[in-house]
Amino acid sequence: MNVLVVGGGGREHALCWALSGSPLLTKLWCAPGNAGIAAVADCVPIGAEDIAGLVAFARDKAVDLVVAGPEASLTLGLADACAAAGLRCFGPSAAAARLEGSKAFTKEVADAAGVPTAAWARFEDPAAARAHIRARGAPIVVKADGLAAGKGVVVAQTVDEAEAAIADIMEDRVHGAAGASVVIEDCLLGQEVSFFALCDGETALPMAAAQDHKRVGDGDTGPNTGGMGAYSPPPVFDDAMRAAVMDRVIRPTLAEMARRGTPFRGVLFAGLMVTEAGPKLIEFNVRFGDPECQALMLRLRSDLLAALLAACDGELAAFDLRWDPRPSLVVVMASRGYPGAYAKGTEIRGLDHAAAIPGVQVFHAGTARRADGAVVATGGRVLGIAATGDTVQAARDAAYAAVAALDWPEGFCRRDIAHRAL
Ligand code: AMP
Repeated sequence: MNVLVVGGGGREHALCWALSGSPLLTKLWCAPGNAGIAAVADCVPIGAEDIAGLVAFARDKAVDLVVAGPEASLTLGLADACAAAGLRCFGPSAAAARLEGSKAFTKEVADAAGVPTAAWARFEDPAAARAHIRARGAPIVVKADGLAAGKGVVVAQTVDEAEAAIADIMEDRVHGAAGASVVIEDCLLGQEVSFFALCDGETALPMAAAQDHKRVGDGDTGPNTGGMGAYSPPPVFDDAMRAAVMDRVIRPTLAEMARRGTPFRGVLFAGLMVTEAGPKLIEFNVRFGDPECQALMLRLRSDLLAALLAACDGELAAFDLRWDPRPSLVVVMASRGYPGAYAKGTEIRGLDHAAAIPGVQVFHAGTARRADGAVVATGGRVLGIAATGDTVQAARDAAYAAVAALDWPEGFCRRDIAHRAL
């Protein structure tokens, strides 16, 4: 099998790492990849949003499977373009990817499927939105309806804060066209969990759950980020809860998407709040989470390539996924200043020392190799230091030992990953 993975972050490194161990694999490419991915795949300089370029490459190389990493490739129609070219693609069509692309669409599908979520309303008029906020009171959640790179959500503790969010999103358009309409939701209280299910359009197979750490600072303080660390499985998410989420969230959504003529194939990522009244859906994403994917891939015991092929070919009903019961954990290392401005091109040393620590796998998220061979940081989130252990504490100790083995003064990480599990 010839496989092309699309993307160049920690998620794609973890996917390439898992795929590279498959007995079915002949040749692995990654577009555009990064310095770490280059150790397990041939990196090709095609952007994840260059759909025509990706399809042309895949045809030229007789690729048997295209694996979409980021949501942008999917909302831009990578899966549709592959289908039109007779190529197999793991990831939903653009129509099914609306589950991530539009918050209002997600809420409509959830309501039609009977999925438990927060009560909500959608507004195109700022005055009506403000009136709704005043009537409903705080805390309340204001969301730009479109894609806003994960930044279009304000969990407002006061009515004033919620009204300020309306001004920012709808009037000042700080997230551009994504703010043409807003979704306003009741605030859910509880622990957040990311749950992943593999879907072939009809059948859903549970993967695993993980907990992410969105805020930049220890103790969940500071601004939101793309994710500063994750661990799997979260103790709050037991087998009974997984069964409940499959029955009440995943399967009804899959059935509703099929009924609409836009069946969902790919990985369905449910962002859940575990409330006192049970798990409730916050959002769907249509691809693996990052860094959660890194934690999941360390625990996956089945052949990832065979699983993705089964999802593409509608054969998940006969498939089984096996997981390492031991916990895994990822500490994200970012460039100092992230999620604000940060320096690029700083040199990272000690990667071999970090990777030599037992149980540790270093995934690259934003790196490149300089002409002299040095690995340099090219992004905000730069490395995922992932580890498994017999306990969460053991996995965490291994990951932080690897962090200590790195020589990268311009980098930083949170020191409290998995604090909810300890
Ligand atoms: P979203 O982009 O919809 O996942 O929202 C981003 C973050 O905002 C989530 O990960 C939650 O932490 C928070 N959030 C979103 N909706 C709600 C809600 N209804 N109640 C509480 N927190 C929420």
